[in-house]
Amino acid sequence: MTKGYMDYQSASPVDPRVVEAMIPHMTEHFGNPSILFRSDGDAARQALEEARGHVAGFIGADPSEIIFTSGATEANNMALKGVALKLQSKGKHIISSVVEHRSVITPLKYLERLGFEVTRLPVDAEGFVNPADVEAATREDTILISVMMATGEVGTIQPVGKIADIAKAAGVLFHTDAVAAEAWIPIDVSTLPFDIMTLSSNDIYGPRGVGALYIRKGVRLEALVHGGGQERGLRSGTENIAGIVGFGAAARIMGEEMEADTARVRPMRDRLMEGILEGIADTTLNGPRERRLPNNVNIRLAYIEGESLLLSLDMEGISVSSGSACSAKTLEPSYVQLAMGIKHEEAHGSLQFTFGKWSTDEDVDMVLEVLPGIAERLREMSAFRPGMEYDKSNFGHHGHDEEGE
Ligand code: PMP
Repeated sequence: MTKGYMDYQSASPVDPRVVEAMIPHMTEHFGNPSILFRSDGDAARQALEEARGHVAGFIGADPSEIIFTSGATEANNMALKGVALKLQSKGKHIISSVVEHRSVITPLKYLERLGFEVTRLPVDAEGFVNPADVEAATREDTILISVMMATGEVGTIQPVGKIADIAKAAGVLFHTDAVAAEAWIPIDVSTLPFDIMTLSSNDIYGPRGVGALYIRKGVRLEALVHGGGQERGLRSGTENIAGIVGFGAAARIMGEEMEADTARVRPMRDRLMEGILEGIADTTLNGPRERRLPNNVNIRLAYIEGESLLLSLDMEGISVSSGSACSAKTLEPSYVQLAMGIKHEEAHGSLQFTFGKWSTDEDVDMVLEVLPGIAERLREMSAFRPGMEYDKSNFGHHGHDEEGE
């Protein structure tokens, strides 16, 4: 079903066991969990709380610390705006990084328009945020530090443990977007000083359109969605029970299978990475070798446009990404790679492969068989090969407004 699919970071199939767990909650048990004194409401309420227990158990939290949302975008918005609005009388300064997902970057821009001040920390050539920069940027009026757990595009696992310690010592709340890391790095909030954390269902093979925010006991956020008071008043709206049940099942399964998934995927990933780097000239790994997500390969091929690579691989039945999926609608190079100091024209030639639970050695074979030939053919036609002038007009530069993405 997933042959040649090497883009799990953009979207993942839902585990058939998860689908099975969800079905009765769309057919038999369709009750509203807010309806009291009726067994259909009881069944829905029970399913909701069971799922909350699974998601909490997955990260070492208490069930009361989990708020279900419509996905990671909503959870990130809730974290950033919810803290900012709650703590604005204490201070209006927020620290984040330049490599965050757009669902962090864009709310922070919005908060700036409301009068908050945001410090965006740079990254080094491998995509790491430096904890010393976090410490130096922390001020008396800093109310929140938000740095993602891993940068999914280039695989960099951020030093969030150290950053959270710095935040704690300074008495500042720490939020992390764990979406890219949650399927590959065990997370235990009972030992890590994270105050708020974003989780997504689809990234652990649950359904899309559901996610959660972990909020440590005692941390207060302003609600953004007002209504019937569901989810402790923080996120009103009749709960997406089937989706939440699916997320719960996915979290339970991931808790049991993460270690085995990682042990199976890492060697395949290494074989693909080495195969491309050694088998094709003028290729460079984006992101680090150590402290790298075990399912990520991101390599730039000099003198080629990622889009033509993408198309050629697609014709061979192989799905990958060039740059970040979220900005692939435009032909702008990835802001993550630019922030790492990778040149505009080089970032265009980057390919991102992400493995998942149903990846096989056959997928790796497919790529290693066709990519060298594709690279050679495209380089022959390339306007960027050595000796040719790099011409920016080759890339249809679109005006790109991040609002509304
Ligand atoms: N954060 C990160 C790191 C992501 O990769 C994504 C997209 N998968 C999101 C947040 C947003 O997730 P969603 O589109 O499900 O809201």
